Amino acid sequence: MNLILFGPPAAGKGTQAKRLVETRKMVQLSTGDMLRAAIASGSDLGKRVEGIMQRGDLVSDEIVIELIESRLPEAEAAGGAIFDGFPRTLAQAEALDVMLKGRGSQIDLVIRLKVDDEALKQRIAGRFAESGRPDDNPESFGVRLGAYNAQTAPLLPYYQGQGKLVEVDGMGAIDAVAAGIDAAMDAVR
Ligand code: AMP
Repeated sequence: MNLILFGPPAAGKGTQAKRLVETRKMVQLSTGDMLRAAIASGSDLGKRVEGIMQRGDLVSDEIVIELIESRLPEAEAAGGAIFDGFPRTLAQAEALDVMLKGRGSQIDLVIRLKVDDEALKQRIAGRFAESGRPDDNPESFGVRLGAYNAQTAPLLPYYQGQGKLVEVDGMGAIDAVAAGIDAAMDAVR
């Protein structure tokens, strides 16, 4: 199964994706993690994206589409991908559909984790204090939330139109959210 975990930054996508890697042996494809790895390695790509990410802006569609494409065979071999933080624009969503179709595959389910903006801001303040992730500072987080609302949230009708969108309340405890995700996935099988 190919699943998109959809939602604003700090909605819990990464936490839930990691759990699914454990419980369902799927492969997590997080473009944010891939880009942070590129920065940590000091590669040319890392140097190109570092400032953009620190501000909270989106990097170009071409970059993230290429990153995802390079990892699709691995996810296929594992029996499924969890797309985490991708797609974030309509161009990315369309490219993903084309790439998967070319491989005889498709997105099976899009789970939207719903969390309100106030809760997100509180979560992120805690995470910034703990991890010191540079783009979790209040200013960059505001830009990231703005990018989500302007460029990513408009994808919801795209997936709703395909009949793939399921909403899960992301405000509860991690286990309660996980149960909602499991129920949505089991309903597709
Ligand atoms: P994340 O870890 O998913 O919150 O991503 C961290 C940052 O990486 C984002 O704020 C963007 O700057 C960049 N990024 C990650 N995924 C994407 C994507 N699909 N499209 C554009 N930029 C992305």
